[in-house]
Amino acid sequence: MKSLKKPNLKVDDIYCLCSKDFRDKDLVKRLLESEENVIKASENFDKLAIVHETYKMQEDVTCRGVVSDKELINLYIQKLVPKKSVGREYYDYILAMPYNNICPLCGARIVSTIDHYLPKTHYPSLSVIPNNLIPSCRDCNHEKHDIKFKSKEDETLHPYFDNIENHRWVFCDVIEDDPISFKYSIKMIDSKDEMIYKRIRNHFKVLNLDVLYAIKACDIISGIEVMLKKLYKKTGVDAVREQIKEDMESYEVKSLNSWQSAFYRGVYSSEWFFDVWLKQN
Ligand SMILES: [Zn+2]
Repeated sequence: MKSLKKPNLKVDDIYCLCSKDFRDKDLVKRLLESEENVIKASENFDKLAIVHETYKMQEDVTCRGVVSDKELINLYIQKLVPKKSVGREYYDYILAMPYNNICPLCGARIVSTIDHYLPKTHYPSLSVIPNNLIPSCRDCNHEKHDIKFKSKEDETLHPYFDNIENHRWVFCDVIEDDPISFKYSIKMIDSKDEMIYKRIRNHFKVLNLDVLYAIKACDIISGIEVMLKKLYKKTGVDAVREQIKEDMESYEVKSLNSWQSAFYRGVYSSEWFFDVWLKQN
């Protein structure tokens, strides 16, 4: 759920580099003959992604008859991914794009792979197109799998084309129980943009982020519990409230919708947290 700048890479540079590296000269010739169609597909993808309508992207027909789907997919599998492949520097460049190595799709786990926003099995001509390649953790990549969008609201968030930071969408409620736990959800509070709300909600559901964030929140609270309860005994409830507020504001400067921002806001808004939980031994 974090936006990223588009990769500063040229479609034809990657496509040609990978295409020319095959030993089969006939295959190289056919791949290079298809370059124009691949570039058109890439341009079409960009146009649709800007308005969040990639579900309208036609499944590949452009290159059929010249190169097969498998041959296009092999550009990625054989020439971009392997450690010593000719295109690996491009792969590594995309992996290194998030400055803190955190997956932009979940904002929680470590980047370890590349996710095709539109899956290469359905859209082989986009297999090595930079704007279709997103640095991702293995779990997000796995959850998205070969999902095919059928409508605008089906589309998960794309870090190069979506920025959801204008409004607060991710919320965390404290579950008043022993042990304390948390429930994350997407809510439309201060925006009227129904479509982006539905897309964020769908993104959340497809990637199972409610479960991931709830686990992360339990981990944080168990880490700071002793510190907060000591602070309460020493200085009272107001000091703890102030501490939580400072943490919340600090995280919210970076992102309104990170799981940490939602966590601290949820805790800060919970009277039960300060009146009951904090006072328990
Ligand atoms: Zn992820």
